[in-house]
Amino acid sequence: MNKIAEALKQGRVLVSDGAWGTFLQNKGLLPGECPELWNIDRPEDVLDIAKSYIDAGADMIETNSFGGNSFKLSFFGLANRVTEINRAAAEISRKAAGQNKFVLGSIGPTGKILMMGDVSEEELYNSFKEQAMALEAGGADALVIETMSDLDEAKCAIKACKENTSCEIICTMTFEKSDEYVFHTMMGVTPSQMTAELIDAGATIIGANCGNGFKNMVGITCEIRTINKTIPILIHANAGAPMYKNGQTHFPESPEQMGGLVRTLIDAGANIIGGCCGTTPDHIRKIAGMVNANK
Ligand SMILES: [Zn+2]
Repeated sequence: MNKIAEALKQGRVLVSDGAWGTFLQNKGLLPGECPELWNIDRPEDVLDIAKSYIDAGADMIETNSFGGNSFKLSFFGLANRVTEINRAAAEISRKAAGQNKFVLGSIGPTGKILMMGDVSEEELYNSFKEQAMALEAGGADALVIETMSDLDEAKCAIKACKENTSCEIICTMTFEKSDEYVFHTMMGVTPSQMTAELIDAGATIIGANCGNGFKNMVGITCEIRTINKTIPILIHANAGAPMYKNGQTHFPESPEQMGGLVRTLIDAGANIIGGCCGTTPDHIRKIAGMVNANK
């Protein structure tokens, strides 16, 4: 059952969570360390992140499984632990969410490109299938296939999720802006191209994550809405464009600055609003406040 889409049908705007990667780094994740192994080795720290976002007012929480596919885990010698790691990720987020909030199983790119012949479609499909089934077994309501830039990989992931789980399927791609009006992924896919193809493939919620702050996300949302008036749109925006200072990446937008654009984003057609890189529970608290003020 598509519980999130049902909630949206009642006209609600829902609030999603904020960044995981930057939060894990603040808790001591080292460069070169496997973030997903924390689900097994440091579950309390992962639970603390999930709880922070629920406490901040998020209606849904992702899982610490962005790089939990067999290709990414093989880099750490963990390809044989995909099921264990993803199941644990979903169980931790379910614990934070309770029964009234939604758990979104995070599925990121594999790093393999179909077009380049890095991988066969079958290998890619099986990798997504394994991860998706483990996330569902751990308690995910929905699967969020995110940070995608290649349409073929995104569609393969959607197919694997659709054919092997009964989870709701969300798919978001990451866009950059090449000039004032043109957004495209690293692989050249525009929001307009993405829209029909992801829906055809079986995604019930689509959108954009990472790469942009709210300002650019307004443009992306408008472009999706010109193609499709009704598909629910999820936006996970960065806290502005990253800046590099003293060898560290810094995301400049404050909770107030992001909160100030929530109304504009809702007017553009966004239905679920949350954060990506650089956003914190304070950002989500502010976003939730604005969403609820606009009811
Ligand atoms: Zn991000």
